[in-house]
Amino acid sequence: FFMTLWRQYRSVPIVYRIGVAFVLGAIVGLAVGQPAMELQPIGDLFVRLLEMIIVPIIIFTLLMATRELSPKNLGRIGGQVVLLYLATTAVAIGMGLGVSNLIDPGTGMTLEQTDVQTGQTPSLTDQVFNIVPENPITAMAEGNILAIIFFTLVFGLGMTMVRAEVEPDSAVRNGIDTIFDVVDAGAEVMFKIVWGVMEFGVLGVFALMAALFGEVGAQAIGAYFSLSMTLAIAIGLQIALVYLLVIIRGAVGVSPVDFLRGIKEALITALSIRSSTATLPISMSDADENLQIKERVYGFSLPLGATINMDGTAMYLGIVAIFAANIAGASLTLVEQLTILLTALLMSIGTAGVPSASLVMMTAVLTQVGLPLEVIGMIAGIDPLLDRLRTMNNIAGDMAVTTVVAKWNDAIDLTSGVWADAPAEFS
Ligand code: ASP
Repeated sequence: FFMTLWRQYRSVPIVYRIGVAFVLGAIVGLAVGQPAMELQPIGDLFVRLLEMIIVPIIIFTLLMATRELSPKNLGRIGGQVVLLYLATTAVAIGMGLGVSNLIDPGTGMTLEQTDVQTGQTPSLTDQVFNIVPENPITAMAEGNILAIIFFTLVFGLGMTMVRAEVEPDSAVRNGIDTIFDVVDAGAEVMFKIVWGVMEFGVLGVFALMAALFGEVGAQAIGAYFSLSMTLAIAIGLQIALVYLLVIIRGAVGVSPVDFLRGIKEALITALSIRSSTATLPISMSDADENLQIKERVYGFSLPLGATINMDGTAMYLGIVAIFAANIAGASLTLVEQLTILLTALLMSIGTAGVPSASLVMMTAVLTQVGLPLEVIGMIAGIDPLLDRLRTMNNIAGDMAVTTVVAKWNDAIDLTSGVWADAPAEFS
């Protein structure tokens, strides 16, 4: 009997089971309150399992990407990806500032005295130096994604160049072909592991939501209603207009519904765990299996996006600046708003893809226009909620840009995966 029950359970696509776990967790958390926080370790275990996969999956897929890429093509794809990442982020901040000017979040609130932890915001030189690892093994051990991308690309391109130079049947050429075959198999295995981890994710997401709602309850949302609404509306507009309408419908020319079906696992994971980086294994597997995109685009664009492309984060940095100005009773001039746009863009690039990372970057934005830092302390309490929306937006942006760049470079199969009539489900 239990076997049939288990089989029936397994026959429901995993993302629906996770969706149910998400809602049930929230309900249980609200009903039980504080004790539900005991479940947190189960959720943390889920995040650790995902984190375990990040470094190998990036290295395997990125090496596969270099197998098919000439440096020239890599330059073109890379250029398109980076430009679109910057452009969509700038639009997102504009969207956030626009909605904030309409809703005026924070007006009528007064400044509370709170402690602010001001962290170090990295300087531009630091950010550049961060890309070139002193030691590739250290970069891998520390999970420094930009440095891993850099070294893996250099190594992969080196292999392709050497392969082209040596004799066809030489040991070196055979060795390089073997490395590529091993890497191909490795990527395949990692994707298998991702689905195993997602099975556990059903429990993990339940635990995370129960712990969250057990802690903050419903009251947290009330006090900051205008701030939360501003962010939610701006994110809704960014996803609907920029990603779905302009990029997916307009530039790629496919159905936004299919696209959403293709990235649902990544979206719900981002909502549950609040980390772009830890969501990476899931977004890569969605790009590979659902959206049918080739490694040569997503193997590069997704790890890069998880590190530098944060539309939701950038937008939030702008919104909080307006929120802070309203609380302080100051009004921001157009020039000041443009300063915010630029600072938020740069800061979002430097933001780590981990939970609540933007709280640190916010000090830079607020300082830039002379607004009170206490605001950060005030909003830290609801960040576990708002961070989810931001992270989901960050991931959706990476996926939309990846899809259109894949289309431009003939690296997407629009006849299979979610694009085919009969949806391909996972087992
Ligand atoms: N949690 C976000 C992310 O990982 C970063 C942030 O906005 O705090 O994408």
